[in-house]
Amino acid sequence: MTMPPDFPGRIARDHLLFRDFEALCAFGGRLSGSESERLALDYVAESGAAASGVPCVSLRVPYLGWRGVKAELVLADGTLAACHPLVRSVATPAGGLTAEVVELGRGTPEEFAAHRADLAGRIALVRHELMFVAGTVHRRRKYDMAREAGAVGFLIAGPIPGGLVTGSSGRGEGEAGIPAAGIAPETAGRLIRTAAGWPRATMRIETVEQPTETRTLIFDMPGRTDEWVVLSAHVDGHDINESAMDNASGVAAALSVARALTPHVAQWRRGIRLAFFSAEEWALTGSARYVASLGEQARANIALNVNLDSVAGNSRLSALTSGFAGVEPFLLSVAQACGHDLRCVRPLLTNSDHANFALAGIPALRLVAGYDEPASNLRLVLTPGDTRDRVAKAELTAAAQLAACITAAACQAEPAEAATWRK
Ligand SMILES: [Zn+2]
Repeated sequence: MTMPPDFPGRIARDHLLFRDFEALCAFGGRLSGSESERLALDYVAESGAAASGVPCVSLRVPYLGWRGVKAELVLADGTLAACHPLVRSVATPAGGLTAEVVELGRGTPEEFAAHRADLAGRIALVRHELMFVAGTVHRRRKYDMAREAGAVGFLIAGPIPGGLVTGSSGRGEGEAGIPAAGIAPETAGRLIRTAAGWPRATMRIETVEQPTETRTLIFDMPGRTDEWVVLSAHVDGHDINESAMDNASGVAAALSVARALTPHVAQWRRGIRLAFFSAEEWALTGSARYVASLGEQARANIALNVNLDSVAGNSRLSALTSGFAGVEPFLLSVAQACGHDLRCVRPLLTNSDHANFALAGIPALRLVAGYDEPASNLRLVLTPGDTRDRVAKAELTAAAQLAACITAAACQAEPAEAATWRK
């Protein structure tokens, strides 16, 4: 493995790394379909071309757009409580949806099973939990369990006092669903069952759904063969925060990696395909369309997908290796050679764009910060706390350095070594 030693130094000196990160945060949360997302994609198209030295190829991604127009929750005593519609929540009937609320703790499968007889015709209330930890029950799974049990609405309480929580409802394009919204933990505290019975509440959610379009931005820096390492990050986020950790951090790091590696790629066996996806928060739509568009040969020519999603906010980095055990020795040796601690987490976690590559048989990993660190700032992802002040420059620099080392080594690996990644 040849590793020109100057990448980490170049990234440490890259003053554009933090500038890009802050610029992306300044556009706002970049919810798909918003002006904020459009401006951020324009910025990334320009910055990516400057970083890679090649023009941007912009791929059209049509999808069913959605936006929340109004959301409120009326408690039994008539007081209004703030709530935030989950992405692609269905609207309530015009007068609102009034029902009793069944509180299910975290919302584990055991809690849903134990309350199965209670849920029909009622609203399920669960807690948001740290996503980056083994054993977490994903919000979408809770939503599905609520629907299967006949619940007519879904509320999820955020972890931060006074703060709402957002995320995708998991409802696919044009599918049926139930109204779904995030609330503050104090509101959840007022929806607890008492001797008087389950409390009643009224959800009012208005939405607009119409066909729209976003973009996937591709920058191809060819190597000596027709093989590629795809370095990816998603640009979109949510509208209750700056989507700073998730995922201005990954986009800024990917741009910095491109700046550091561009001068060398032409000499390497494999090229770098820099890919910026959007509508990631919408069931990974951008990357799903992209991977689906690849023929068998194009998939075979991708040696590895290195997906950067939420790479700062904590100094501990993990690689989620999507079941590709064969890629782990390579990653660990690269990390050690670069002086980084790296933990490999084996199960396929369908929580970012790498999952679409992995499901298509392409070795894929997600680099993520703060995995299994419950106290880390990553607990604030999807809450109003995902803002730029949660990210230290040193964390972002270290993530970009490790991503550069992995990408450079993957581009240069011998075919026999790269073949082990697909096992
Ligand atoms: Zn993300």
